Amino acid sequence: MSIRPTALLVLITAASSIAWQWPLHSQAPAFDIVIRGGRVVDGTGSPWFTADVGIRGDAIAAIQPRLDATGARVIDAAGLVVSPGFIDVHAHVEPRQGGEDMVGNPAAENNVRQGVTTVIGSPDGGGPVGVGGYLATVAAGRPAINVGAFIGHGSVRSAVMGQVDRAATPDELERMRELVRTGMREGAFGLSTGLFYVPGNYAPLEEVIELARVAGQFGGIHQSHMRDEASHVLDSVRETIAIGERGGLPTQVTHHKVIGKVNWGTSVDTLRLIDEARARGVDATIDQYPYTASSTSIQGGLVPQWAQAGGRQAMLQRLRDEATRGKVLAAVASSIETDRGGGDPGNVVLAACAWDPSLAGKSLAQVLRDRGRPVTIPGAAELVVEIIEKGGCSAVYHAISEDDVVRIMKHPATMIASDAAPGIPTFGRNVPHPRAYGTFARVLGRYVREKQVLTLEEAVRKMSAFPAQRMGLGDRGLLRPGMKADVVVLNPATIKDMATFDTPHQYAVGVAAVLVNGQVTLADGAMTGARAGRVLERTAR
Ligand SMILES: [Zn+2]
Repeated sequence: MSIRPTALLVLITAASSIAWQWPLHSQAPAFDIVIRGGRVVDGTGSPWFTADVGIRGDAIAAIQPRLDATGARVIDAAGLVVSPGFIDVHAHVEPRQGGEDMVGNPAAENNVRQGVTTVIGSPDGGGPVGVGGYLATVAAGRPAINVGAFIGHGSVRSAVMGQVDRAATPDELERMRELVRTGMREGAFGLSTGLFYVPGNYAPLEEVIELARVAGQFGGIHQSHMRDEASHVLDSVRETIAIGERGGLPTQVTHHKVIGKVNWGTSVDTLRLIDEARARGVDATIDQYPYTASSTSIQGGLVPQWAQAGGRQAMLQRLRDEATRGKVLAAVASSIETDRGGGDPGNVVLAACAWDPSLAGKSLAQVLRDRGRPVTIPGAAELVVEIIEKGGCSAVYHAISEDDVVRIMKHPATMIASDAAPGIPTFGRNVPHPRAYGTFARVLGRYVREKQVLTLEEAVRKMSAFPAQRMGLGDRGLLRPGMKADVVVLNPATIKDMATFDTPHQYAVGVAAVLVNGQVTLADGAMTGARAGRVLERTAR
């Protein structure tokens, strides 16, 4: 016998009337957290709207004008902006001596305080080859933010071939393919290359295409620190596009910039190349940090790659040969003149020198003056080689035009990424590039509020939905029911990067609250100690 619909209705009504009589407080609250009354900038680029954001567990449960907050923790966001947590797709969080990495500093306060809730590490062709083991180590350290990784071409090449300056044999290429394949299976988001660096620089285009193709077969992208960002930047953008076009995968020019005064303005043409590639169907994009200085090791930044072949001992041996030393000095002088040196020894500032920490924060010009030596470009080249013989330093290079920074930032295919190196700095140690503390806040303060280069909504898109889409993170980067609750509450009138080149160890201000996977990680401007980050793996498409 069947139950008539009307009878069923009666039964349901009866059941619900019984429930209705129970005291309200015995019911589970609808939300664990309600972010009340903020301007929701949802990541799509659409104009903000006023709504409450209800969070249950690790996910966003509702976004509506007025949510019942009974039993929920309420975060008052009146007058504030509520946006998705920011996603940094170029973050140097890979293992580093001294522990300035995700394992050594899992609280990642420099990231949280600018609203960053996800970092993707191992850019520039670097990072561990064993992606799975590395991610397991990161997970065991209970990071405060989400962490993913690329598989780095330079690391793969180094594991198979060392630092030799030659093309791979077919057998070596196959072994590299296998390492990329394994890295992708273990969750890498794609292949990062550092064709500027040793040993990536020794790889011909064909090798990179072959390995990129493997990453593409697993749905990954290619992200490149290009072979040259100065006089040959156009050739390098063409090469990055070719890797995507011929490798059959999305490709990204990372930390796009134009280095060297003589090259300033070339971003007009680099962006045109990207537009032309996109017009013919190549999925080419860009990421960028908002500064007029770059940072890398003084060896990587100023010494020609041929002089570094075979590793440090081989390089030192070369420097002991007078004729070769002369060639290296000439090349370093040329780099200071027209490339990363910005035409002036005062534009190269040492960031960290393990063998003499007192040098941190001093420019090559200052060190020369301190030692009573004339401040000339050949003199600075001599100093650079001496520094390398002592053990090297990292450095900051002031050689980028703000016009290029702004032009690149405005391009619709550009997202924001920090290139923070070290990605998780130890507060107060050395004088690193301020981007580790300020990148995302600087875009929102200097380039949205002060210079009005971008709208707030567009800037947030470049920090959330766009990088999420690029990485295939289908459940992050947008404020929408069902998405993971990585959320930032910030004050658009006060958000600001405080870290400067002279005093970089200063946290950004203006971020009121940060949630990572639904856990309050920053509230009322204070870190809560929550460590709710997860290891993220690219899921096969
Ligand atoms: Zn780089």
